[in-house]
Amino acid sequence: MYEMWAEHDPAISPPGVVWHVVAKDNATASLCGRFLEPSQRVMPALDGTPPDGTTPPASSPDRYCDPCLVTVREAMAESGR
Ligand SMILES: [Zn+2]
Repeated sequence: MYEMWAEHDPAISPPGVVWHVVAKDNATASLCGRFLEPSQRVMPALDGTPPDGTTPPASSPDRYCDPCLVTVREAMAESGR
């Protein structure tokens, strides 16, 4: 199964949170091969309050990692056959 992993990514513009997908049996790297640092993980607050004050305002939508989503889509297509 898969789990979503949100991470601050300063490489994108504007800097914000990117969602990666992690396989539950291998939580050290995302499906796109990115090494995941638990200290970099972002836990979005449900009420919209930034937990650490560094979360961009709500006008910056979260982004989703394309390679991760493609991998999930392919895996689901295969398991559906
Ligand atoms: Zn990714």
